Amino acid sequence: MRVEVEQPKCVASGQCVLAAPDVFDQDDDGIVEILTDRPAADRHDDVKEAAALCPAAAIRLVSE
Ligand code: SF4
Repeated sequence: MRVEVEQPKCVASGQCVLAAPDVFDQDDDGIVEILTDRPAADRHDDVKEAAALCPAAAIRLVSE
């Protein structure tokens, strides 16, 4: 799985960081940053939850 984010869409809600803090972070303005775009398999459920919770639909998961 590869994780992509569209930072222009991000509304800085922080839901992704709460769901998967080892995959997502926020910059000083609260905008999402990716810590790893290929999370380990045991993190996929949390990443899917983060994408589902994102109110801006700014997180896209790509199957590989
Ligand atoms: S959950 Fe979505 S809107 Fe909120 S910080 Fe993460 S990417 Fe941005």
